[in-house]
Amino acid sequence: MSSSGSGAAPDAIVVGSGPNGLAAAVTLARAGLAVHVIEGAATPGGGCRTEELTLPGFRHDVCSAVHPLAGASPFFAGTDLASRGVRLLTPKVAFAQPLDGGRAAALAGSVDETAGSLGRDGGAYRRLLGPLVRDVPLTLPALLAPLFRSVPSHPVAMARFGLEGLLPASVLSRRFRGEEARALLAGAAAHTMLPLGAPLTGAYGLLFLMTGHAFGWPVVEGGSARIIEALTGELESLGGRVETGRWVRRLDDLPPARAVLLDVTPRQLIDLAAGRLAGPHRRALERFRYGPGVCKVDWALSGPVPWQAPACREAGTVHVGGAFADVARSESEVAAGRHPERPFCLVAQPGVVDASRAPAGQHTLWGYCHVPSGSGVDMSERIEAQIERFAPGFRDLILARSVRTAAQMEQHNPNYVGGDIGGGAGTLRQTLLRPTPRWNPYRTALPGVYLCSSSTPPGGGVHGMCGEWAARTVLADLGARRSV
Ligand SMILES: Cc1cc2nc3c(=O)[nH]c(=O)nc-3n(C[C@H](O)[C@H](O)[C@H](O)COP(=O)(O)OP(=O)(O)OC[C@H]3O[C@@H](n4cnc5c(N)ncnc54)[C@H](O)[C@@H]3O)c2cc1C
Repeated sequence: MSSSGSGAAPDAIVVGSGPNGLAAAVTLARAGLAVHVIEGAATPGGGCRTEELTLPGFRHDVCSAVHPLAGASPFFAGTDLASRGVRLLTPKVAFAQPLDGGRAAALAGSVDETAGSLGRDGGAYRRLLGPLVRDVPLTLPALLAPLFRSVPSHPVAMARFGLEGLLPASVLSRRFRGEEARALLAGAAAHTMLPLGAPLTGAYGLLFLMTGHAFGWPVVEGGSARIIEALTGELESLGGRVETGRWVRRLDDLPPARAVLLDVTPRQLIDLAAGRLAGPHRRALERFRYGPGVCKVDWALSGPVPWQAPACREAGTVHVGGAFADVARSESEVAAGRHPERPFCLVAQPGVVDASRAPAGQHTLWGYCHVPSGSGVDMSERIEAQIERFAPGFRDLILARSVRTAAQMEQHNPNYVGGDIGGGAGTLRQTLLRPTPRWNPYRTALPGVYLCSSSTPPGGGVHGMCGEWAARTVLADLGARRSV
């Protein structure tokens, strides 16, 4: 990793080395531009870092842990991650959701296999998910594109997804009668951090189910940081530089460049512009809304989590919270500004497929729950109580834990405003017109300055597509590409 500020003037500066910043940098470098990435933190990677947060030998994914799109997004599909040492390990069960009484819902393998485990809801699940999963190669590229490019080349497939997804998860769940299928949908939809009656929660829920069937939900052997090592390796092989430990306070402090790409959210853009942004664009950026925060906990465990339900023991991800109504209640409480007593928790256990994360026989466990924006409340006891509810004896395995409240998440990474890990609320408006209503949302009102973070389309997650689309815009503006 370079740390010097010397060298010839770059064509492009990228502020921030999250997956989107690096995807933008790599895309520009592949087009022959000299690229300089400036990262404030001591290590690159933003939401894709791995550290020994608890005890020596226990490697925890600080933020992202599960990567359904690592091989599937067009950016990563065009990046030979494997040759740069990234090995995706796919658990047999993509995700499971324990229910009281030792039962669990589980998404594993094909639609038919999962439908077969859902009893009387098997037929309804097959009818709903079968066509959507078949259409993934047609719909996913459009779903990972900005609105101005997602005018579908496959209108029938997109219409099918859109019509089903328009329904909030609470309405979509009425297709099912049993607790298992309804819980599966609730856990997937709750990733949005929205109440389950909100528009688009159905679409997000379906999308997560679709990716589970189409790609599985893999973890990266050794930790998510390997993705970043691969991207920085590729960038440096193309002549790009990554400088760490340098926080950019004002755009005016940056050296001259033909383009500046910011892997930051709208609020930071306003600060960095230091008065240079005015008028309607600034007001639109000020209207940008952030979602709730998360309280993140990492554990070092002396053994695997003793889930009562066997499916949970084979799952890379476990959605912990109970039945649909329990999950819905938890998300509604957060939206109302309260800390749920029994929170819905997202838990990942990389050890089911990756023995390298902890000393022999021991495990890391990763988890978070949603909390009101900016919360300083440590939710670890409530999260542990939820896990214990479905895995009696869990607490006895805890060797050490590391906790980050929502407020501390923002201190860790300024892009997590109030602890929001999605780069902005996933409301209907901000899903369609992200971050502001502009034909090309990557351009800002400042000439030569672009946004490339997850606050732009297609939004949160490690897929690199915000960065790739922003870089394509830059290349079009510089005349290096005919169009975006
Ligand atoms: C707890 C948690 C769990 C998650 N789980 C998953 C998951 O399992 N799967 C998944 O796909 N996604 C997950 N995510 C989301 C994913 O991490 C983000 O969507 C993704 O990292 C966004 O990438 P980005 O490049 O837009 O921004 P970031 O990754 O946030 O990177 C932004 C970078 O810019 C730097 N920066 C900001 N301002 C400045 C400045 N002024 N000067 C210099 N540098 C600056 C920051 O330090 C940071 O490194 C999770 C996130 C969190 C926090």
